[in-house]
Amino acid sequence: MHQNLIDIESQLFFQTYKRLPVEIDYAKGMRIFDKDGNSYLDFLGGIAVNALGHSHPGIIEAIDHQLRRYMHVSNYFYQDTQLEFVEKLNKLSGFERVFLSNSGTEANEGAIKLVRRWGIDRGKTDIIAFSGGFHGRTYGVLSLMDKPHYKDKMGPYLDNMKIIKYNDIDDLNNTVNDKTVAVILEFIQGEGGISMANEKWVDAINILKQKFGFLVIADEIQSGVGRTGKFFSFENYNINPDIVTLAKGLGGGLPLGCILAHEDLANVWEKGMHGTTFGGNPVACAAGSVVLKELKNGLMEHVIQAGKYLHERLEYILNKFPGKVLEVRGLGLIKGLLLNFDAGKLVAELLKRKIIANAASGSVLRLVPPLVVTNQDIDEFISGLSDALIAIE
Ligand code: PLP
Repeated sequence: MHQNLIDIESQLFFQTYKRLPVEIDYAKGMRIFDKDGNSYLDFLGGIAVNALGHSHPGIIEAIDHQLRRYMHVSNYFYQDTQLEFVEKLNKLSGFERVFLSNSGTEANEGAIKLVRRWGIDRGKTDIIAFSGGFHGRTYGVLSLMDKPHYKDKMGPYLDNMKIIKYNDIDDLNNTVNDKTVAVILEFIQGEGGISMANEKWVDAINILKQKFGFLVIADEIQSGVGRTGKFFSFENYNINPDIVTLAKGLGGGLPLGCILAHEDLANVWEKGMHGTTFGGNPVACAAGSVVLKELKNGLMEHVIQAGKYLHERLEYILNKFPGKVLEVRGLGLIKGLLLNFDAGKLVAELLKRKIIANAASGSVLRLVPPLVVTNQDIDEFISGLSDALIAIE
């Protein structure tokens, strides 16, 4: 990678991203190829986006077909590509109503508006979120997040938002009341370091929901779309959320997100109350239909098998490096390795071995590979990981 490019980037862009020193040429399947001819094994998958891997032939064919018909006409029109996608989504999700967005943060902002609209006549206004959560970068969701680095000196934020401790039943009991309109949570916190919701805590949410009648918003943007081997990560728990938000893997690499809700709740919005110019772009929906078709036709079963194998191999690593690796976290193909040092160091060592992964929450190595990852890819990853850990003093 040329120093020149790093310099040019620093002169042209807002310096908001820590980029890896790799100049991409193209990407295919589980691999990314750089301009120097190197091939990298991708265990980041565009941050849990490239569900079917890179350049999936089915996705390319579907978007090519749609591109040649039209790229954008706006949501003023009826579009068969959107309808086909949403029908598939309804079947897989069990939710009757869908609002299509461009991104995750936009889906969550919509969910906040929807619950507030639902709560206004019921005297309910307060939204509760949890420590370590990540819901996006816009003001509504930032008001529901506690990490200072994302928020400092950019306020003020929204009122009637409370952030309490994840997995803490007492905090929940002490905070929820008649004013609570909704809680929003990730059942597996992605950016928060692959922390999983505790079953007893989820039961406590159910009990309080019965008592106070608030709504549950499941942010499945990183953990959903088949990543745990079920369509939603909350299906690994005993709970029925009222609203679910999705994005990332949903468009298979193109920007596509959604809000899912049942009919009664969706009906609190009347025409014109919410909208977007680009949301539900037909090219993205064409790609999304391919993702959903693959998930329905065996990909989730594959995720369960591959996730189990990855877990076993990570436990081998845990046993091999007891001082350096402290814990294996996660379900299916959203996995974390808790380290006793800064995960950024391991990311750099892995990169030297042509493996791409990233750090979440400082000391956790996050693994969110494409859902099509094979046992052979996992073996290659584990061998590189082992070498990288040996290299770290
Ligand atoms: N919610 C979760 C759980 C996420 O992981 C993310 C992104 O990482 C978002 C929301 C925000 O999504 P986007 O970056 O598409 O706005």
